Amino acid sequence: MDRASGFGEDSKNFEDTGGLRVRIPSGSLFLMVILEIYSLLLNKYRRQLWWPVTEEGQIKPEYTGGPKNDKQRLEVAIGAVLTQNTSWKNAEKAIMNLNRKSLIDIEKIKKIGIKELDEVVRPSGFYRQKTERLKLLAEFLESRDFSSIKREELIRIKGIGPETADSILLYACGKPEFVVDAYTKRIFNRLGLINTENYEEVKRLFQRALTGNNNLIQTYQEFHALIVEHAKQHCKKEPECASCPIKKECNYYKQLKQ
Ligand code: SF4
Repeated sequence: MDRASGFGEDSKNFEDTGGLRVRIPSGSLFLMVILEIYSLLLNKYRRQLWWPVTEEGQIKPEYTGGPKNDKQRLEVAIGAVLTQNTSWKNAEKAIMNLNRKSLIDIEKIKKIGIKELDEVVRPSGFYRQKTERLKLLAEFLESRDFSSIKREELIRIKGIGPETADSILLYACGKPEFVVDAYTKRIFNRLGLINTENYEEVKRLFQRALTGNNNLIQTYQEFHALIVEHAKQHCKKEPECASCPIKKECNYYKQLKQ
């Protein structure tokens, strides 16, 4: 059976995976394997507590379970733009610069001069583009409440693609939008669970697999963070399969062993 096409009926079975209750659907190999992988990654790497945010009086964002107020939600939205095409390490340097200048503030981002903001966000790379995007985002957020932001509105902002929009919606707004990134595609293509690079298709597969679970938003948040961690620790460009916690589920690994 083609793993990637195996949708089936949901059941009422639940399983506790490291504190997150997830529903185990019956009749679908794809759904079962997705949940098994989630459980294995959670056991291996534990909860990731994304998205990192800065506590009052601090400069460096920390992994404390996500934003708790609107300033931290804004920081997440800014971070989602700053981490485009670069590592979190670089984005974090720019966030720390913003914190040093008390610039995690919609009005201040709108008012600050372009050249000055360029310098502040420079460590995140592509800084001119990012300055423009932060200013457009600030204009958009000025008249919005985080709870009422719609995906289609975010995607209309220049430079905000599906991945950035879903990161903002999931981690800043607490909405059930699964985030897909290059790591997700790499890992799940190697596992043999998907056979596509199409963002919306991959997102739909995950959402169909996970919809109906208790703690859906937390599950989406943790799963994406675990995927990123797994890509960094094992499923790199040159994968380190021998010590991989999900190798038993992996087509790529099985082919290596043949
Ligand atoms: S076995 Fe190798 S290719 Fe498969 S998920 Fe693990 S690291 Fe990636």
